[in-house]
Amino acid sequence: MADVREVQLLVIGGGPGGYPAALHAADHGLKVALVDDDAAGKLGGVCLNRGCIPSKALLHVAKLLNEARDAAEWGLTFKTPEIDLEKLRNYVQQKVVGKLTGGIGQLTKGRGVEVIKGHATFTDAHTVAIPGGESIRFKNCIIATGSVPAIPKPWQIGNDRIMDSTAALLLPDIPQKMLVIGGGYIGLEIGSVYAALGAKITVVEALDTILAPVDRDLVVPLEKKLRQQFEAIFTGTKIEGLSAESGGIVAKMAGAEFEGGRSEKFDCVLVSVGRRPNFANLGLEQAGVKQDERGFITVDKQRRTNVPHIQAIGDIAGEPGLAHKATAEARVAVEALLGEPSEWSPRAIPAVIFTDPEIAWAGLTQQQAEAQQVPHEVLKFPWAASGRAVSIARTEGVTKLLVDPASKRMLGAGLCGAGAGEMIAEAVLAIEMGAVARDLVESIHPHPTLSETVMEAAELAYGAATHMAKPTKR
Ligand code: FAD
Repeated sequence: MADVREVQLLVIGGGPGGYPAALHAADHGLKVALVDDDAAGKLGGVCLNRGCIPSKALLHVAKLLNEARDAAEWGLTFKTPEIDLEKLRNYVQQKVVGKLTGGIGQLTKGRGVEVIKGHATFTDAHTVAIPGGESIRFKNCIIATGSVPAIPKPWQIGNDRIMDSTAALLLPDIPQKMLVIGGGYIGLEIGSVYAALGAKITVVEALDTILAPVDRDLVVPLEKKLRQQFEAIFTGTKIEGLSAESGGIVAKMAGAEFEGGRSEKFDCVLVSVGRRPNFANLGLEQAGVKQDERGFITVDKQRRTNVPHIQAIGDIAGEPGLAHKATAEARVAVEALLGEPSEWSPRAIPAVIFTDPEIAWAGLTQQQAEAQQVPHEVLKFPWAASGRAVSIARTEGVTKLLVDPASKRMLGAGLCGAGAGEMIAEAVLAIEMGAVARDLVESIHPHPTLSETVMEAAELAYGAATHMAKPTKR
């Protein structure tokens, strides 16, 4: 007979949604089990093992390589760096990913969370089965099974030169020519890494612009730089087919730029056209849990599914598919199951693209404000007027705030520039706290820092920013 274990809370999935939920619940005295099916048995989910963390470690290396090249302009010439790919791989996998996943292991151990390695499948609304014969009965369950890369069927031709982000982050080699399908953040981040390491990158995007959800004025400085670093960026272009030919993959492209289409051979292809919720062999139907038409589990403000003692958080519970959204939902879900008056109602979920320059935004974008006809005023401060930006040669950036025209209350913020990802946190706080532009003006920002651009953009709500020529017409 199968072993049956009883727990108060079962968390399925050990990513940035699942493991914080398990830790938080254990901190509140619940008996918690966390089950995760990572092949290498490492906690941390996509984010730590094959997403946020390895990509950012590699982007850091890419930035260093690019800065070393750019330094020639300031009179510093370095020798062409030698890249030891195996050492770089080991550094990322062991010193970065390994250290962090090991740290989560320690945290779960320290909190008394029971970690079970294996794939969980619901057999009914209170039980999951784990291969090997074990069953776990739970009072409450949080599903945090995340998402997986989506590769369209016709491109699945069984050739390992066609990679998803997971494979590309393992740096199998540095190709001479690489095609990136999809001009979203994952494609551009990984494309930037390979470009810095020496590959010629071609990006193909079906829509008319890369990074379509981002305000165009924030994309422009990045796109300008990427067009210098990449071989080509083709927007409004579709891939009509991928085929394997000796030593490469031939991509058939169709777009306004190529009359009659174009075929080009690449050493490898990164497909980064989106991710889909991961409910593979999860047995949601046995538990009676409902999904929407796109496969996301439908949840309420307490992250409860239609089966109230089962909650869902993170990528499986809807967009945006971001680690910090999953972690924030974990807190709400646990507090709700503990009976606290907690609900999911963020005013601003920040998003960051860790290219160089970075793009970051939070709250309402200008595109959204216009589409939803939300009255708004746009306050834009170019970094060319920032002493800090000039001193570090990063004047291409821009800081923009969206405020309500009457009250000057903060509605949204967006930045493009070096370190934008760190700076957006101030705007998130301002939007969440219902701050008005005056609050940002009166918060003294350290000099010389790029953060002053937020303060100066806010000054524009009241007429002029100190370091900008006074607008003649507003
Ligand atoms: P996941 O991290 O997907 O974890 C789910 C876990 O559940 C996995 O370990 C999975 O193996 C396990 N699992 C699934 N089904 C079962 C089952 N039935 N039984 C047991 N275990 C199961 N987000 C950011 O915020 N910032 C970034 O910079 C960023 N960069 C990214 C870069 C890349 C290349 C990628 C791919 C993603 C990136 N993301 C980033 C997105 C981020 O990784 C996800 O939003 C985040 O990991 C979602 O967390 P999660 O807890 O919902 O699920």
